[in-house]
Amino acid sequence: MQLETISSISTPVGEGAIAIVRLSGVDAVEIADRLYQGAKPLSSVDSHTINYGHIMDPETQESVEEVMVAIMRAPRTYTREDIVEINCHGGVHTVNRVLQLTLKHGARMAEPGEFTKRAFLNGRIDLSQAEGVMDFIRSKTTEASKVANQQMQGRLKSYVEDLRQSILNILAQVEVNIDYPEYDDVEEATTEFLQEESQKVKNEIQKLLKSSTQGRILREGLSTVIIGKPNVGKSSLLNYLIQDNKAIVTDVAGTTRDILEEYVNVNGIPLKLIDTAGIRDTDDIVEKIGVERSRQALKEAELILYVLNNNETLTNEDVEILDSMSDQKVINIVNKLDLETKLDVEDLKSRYPEMPIVKTSIINSTGVDELEDRIAALFFEGEIQSVDSTYVSNNRHIHLLEQAASAISDAIESAEMDVPVDIIQIDLVKTWELLGEVIGEDVSEQLIDQLFSQFCLGK
Ligand code: GDP
Ligand code: ZN
Repeated sequence: MQLETISSISTPVGEGAIAIVRLSGVDAVEIADRLYQGAKPLSSVDSHTINYGHIMDPETQESVEEVMVAIMRAPRTYTREDIVEINCHGGVHTVNRVLQLTLKHGARMAEPGEFTKRAFLNGRIDLSQAEGVMDFIRSKTTEASKVANQQMQGRLKSYVEDLRQSILNILAQVEVNIDYPEYDDVEEATTEFLQEESQKVKNEIQKLLKSSTQGRILREGLSTVIIGKPNVGKSSLLNYLIQDNKAIVTDVAGTTRDILEEYVNVNGIPLKLIDTAGIRDTDDIVEKIGVERSRQALKEAELILYVLNNNETLTNEDVEILDSMSDQKVINIVNKLDLETKLDVEDLKSRYPEMPIVKTSIINSTGVDELEDRIAALFFEGEIQSVDSTYVSNNRHIHLLEQAASAISDAIESAEMDVPVDIIQIDLVKTWELLGEVIGEDVSEQLIDQLFSQFCLGK
């Protein structure tokens, strides 16, 4: 069945000068021809050419826009369908008119991500790449888009393929053991070998999973709450973070923006500051903790910045709140360092040894750099290595990888307990299949094919 031809405005975010109306589908060239007037009809031009002309409204014969039209015929295109890109230089208004004309003359409005979906359905990209594209569209900082970009380029895919290859190697050995138990010169799939090799695969899966937390933070932001008693400097800190990090990240057009959230970019990490409206408008955040919503936000926060006044002693109220956050990541900020010291920092340290303490004087801009470094250290152990690491940043992948880790753990355990190899084989196959799902591969039959083609024993 042929899919309908789709159309949408697909202009790079933030670029102003040129806007593109993109069509994809079997009728793309024909629809464009109904609107196009140039040296020759688009149906007669070569593929992968750019053609100068005008977009006319066929009903009124009025020229709408001067355009350059790129013609790309299947299958050498992003969607593997015919693609037409109409480059307009006019403003939003004319681009919209061109889009409307394509819709009126045979195309259907594309759903978000539909071009990419078609690329996937037509086998142009695999599932992890498709998801990378989706994340890229939504990514909030440059670091985050780098991660999405890598995934798009198939880094995760090749990583997972390597892991699956390792499992096939183990399985091949198991196979040898089952089929040729008496065959002396074939290396035996001893339980030791099984254990060692499976452990290596498990380590790699766990490395990927560890990176997933970081990937998710880069993609969605680190949900952060600033709290503390009135007058300690919460608003000052918030404003400093916002000014110091000029790139307040605004959402890509089309996604809904929660007014209670604000993003700031700290050392490449997008902090999603929650409930900042409360900090701005009132100074009674501590009282607001009584409010259910704030309590919930606090519970779900991945990072809590607790602000204290160096010029005041620790109160019962502080202790109560800090006690209630003992299983969360909290940084204690001792502010107003320029004033006389009344807060016992040693006492604070011994009460909450796992909470880092940063001393600041926000009005003098001191200590905030250290705070930013602390935040990065807490979640990334230093620098974000987006170029070298493979980050997994997608919930579906994380879920599958967790299942794969547990399946291979079962295999290792069975090997330890000297369970027959053909039973261990089942867990290995399961691991292999789960990893296959990460890259959207269909399983079972393929396993048999690969085993035979790659490890043909000459039977
Ligand atoms: P909030 O109630 O916690 O939001 O506190 P604010 O940020 O509104 O600050 C309360 C007061 O403390 C304001 O007058 C700030 O200028 C002042 N303040 C903030 N940081 C410092 C600091 O580091 N040193 C001193 N001396 N005053 C500060
Ligand atoms: Zn305030």
